[in-house]
Amino acid sequence: MSKIKVLDEQLANQIAAGEVVERPASVVKELVENAVDAGSTTIDITIEEGGLSLIRVTDNGGGIEASDIQTAFQRHATSKISTSSDLFRIASLGFRGEALPSIAAVSRLTCVSADSNSGLARKLVIEGGHITADEPANAPQGTDMSVKDLFYNTPARLKYMKSIQTELGHISDYINRLALAHPGIAFTLKHNGSTLLRTMGTGDRLQVIAAIYGTSAAKAMLPVSASDSDYELTGYISKPDLTRANRNGITVVVNGRYIRSHTVNQSLLQAYHTLLPINRFPLVVLELGMHPGLLDVNVHPSKMEVRFSKEAELRALIERAVREALVSQRYIPGASTGG
Ligand code: ADP
Ligand code: MG
Repeated sequence: MSKIKVLDEQLANQIAAGEVVERPASVVKELVENAVDAGSTTIDITIEEGGLSLIRVTDNGGGIEASDIQTAFQRHATSKISTSSDLFRIASLGFRGEALPSIAAVSRLTCVSADSNSGLARKLVIEGGHITADEPANAPQGTDMSVKDLFYNTPARLKYMKSIQTELGHISDYINRLALAHPGIAFTLKHNGSTLLRTMGTGDRLQVIAAIYGTSAAKAMLPVSASDSDYELTGYISKPDLTRANRNGITVVVNGRYIRSHTVNQSLLQAYHTLLPINRFPLVVLELGMHPGLLDVNVHPSKMEVRFSKEAELRALIERAVREALVSQRYIPGASTGG
């Protein structure tokens, strides 16, 4: 008798969820990324009890066709890539086709979506990975995802959740970064009825900086911009007199994706050189645009880490851009721009 069996889909999804859905903020991240990929111009996020009782993301994007709605919740189902060469030129935030089935395996999820072609809405309800309703609905164009009782069927994971404030902190941090990455999208974030963030979606990144860090911080920012044949860089850096106690004020956006990059952070700090007091860090929002082929985002399931193929060139560009901005304000004498 054979002892080795292929896991049933429900169990496989629950295992994958352990990796993809670490905490409420991971659910928020995946749902909001899908909303961005769907071309939305407004994204509303409603949270209750740090995301453990409710995470709801409503968008006005292209929606999911009624005939696709169940497929969207299957493992490795995606509309974003189809061949392995697509993997080397990823233009969307998602591509793994793992988020929806993973989230649905560990929560009670309701998805209502109306696609832009037919305008017809469909509602799908999944509890702990099992479909309990699939029916026509009435809804405006876009997608409305409600995730209730996260980890209700995985008590071990639930036990590891921190306080409501801690979980909310992770959610709020992520939404702030994404709003900085996408100033053209109007975001609202509400927790237990109170509004934590509202951005206008005008495309003005300085407005988003003001909404998150306050108007006086926004006034202390310098624009940066530079490009070479491979990279385009734009954004804002703080004047050296506005510093913070840690690196959390640095937001790096690569092709629309918020990422963490030791390389970029290092180049930034290198460029400020001795202008920053010891153990103080600037407030920075840096957007890097490049051909997707120059970037590997398939490093980790969270897609937070990336690899750049021309790292030395990128470092030089960042240092030049930051130095030029600081020279323009006479923080650095003009003569030292050469390097
Ligand atoms: P991925 O984002 O990697 O493709 P997901 O599991 O997150 O995988 O989503 C599966 C598919 O469901 C997506 O490829 C997309 O076609 C569809 N989808 C999910 N969320 C939305 C949304 N908010 N609007 C439109 N389509 C969506
Ligand atoms: Mg996705």
